[in-house]
Amino acid sequence: MCLFCEIVAGNIPSTKVYEDDMILAFKDINPVAPVHIVVVPKLHIENVNGITEENSKYVSHIFEKIPEIAKSQGIDSYRVINNCGEDAGQSVMHLHFHIVGGTKLGEKII
Ligand code: 5GP
Ligand code: ZN
Repeated sequence: MCLFCEIVAGNIPSTKVYEDDMILAFKDINPVAPVHIVVVPKLHIENVNGITEENSKYVSHIFEKIPEIAKSQGIDSYRVINNCGEDAGQSVMHLHFHIVGGTKLGEKII
């Protein structure tokens, strides 16, 4: 099992901030801002390249819940970041979206 599948299964502890039958959101272990949440589908999808017609409902559900998750952390302005693949710096090969905020965010790439 991959690291985030282990977290979903409860074999590795995490600080959960939201959970339902399809997705889990937890605090990043190495936060880059006062609010740094990782949102993952409970289904293992490697990254954006692994999204299909069959599993994209997990992705849409993540985005339906992101505003609620952010609000629960006291923010309504934030970045949603995804790293897809090695060159983009993806370090855990289980699809995830970072919610980063809680401060004036610094330099933008785009
Ligand atoms: P990536 O670099 O793949 O976009 O993001 C992976 C994220 O997972 C990193 O921000 C890293 O800090 C976080 N992370 C890695 N291992 C753990 C862990 O065991 N627990 C938690 N909560 N976050 C982790
Ligand atoms: Zn996984």
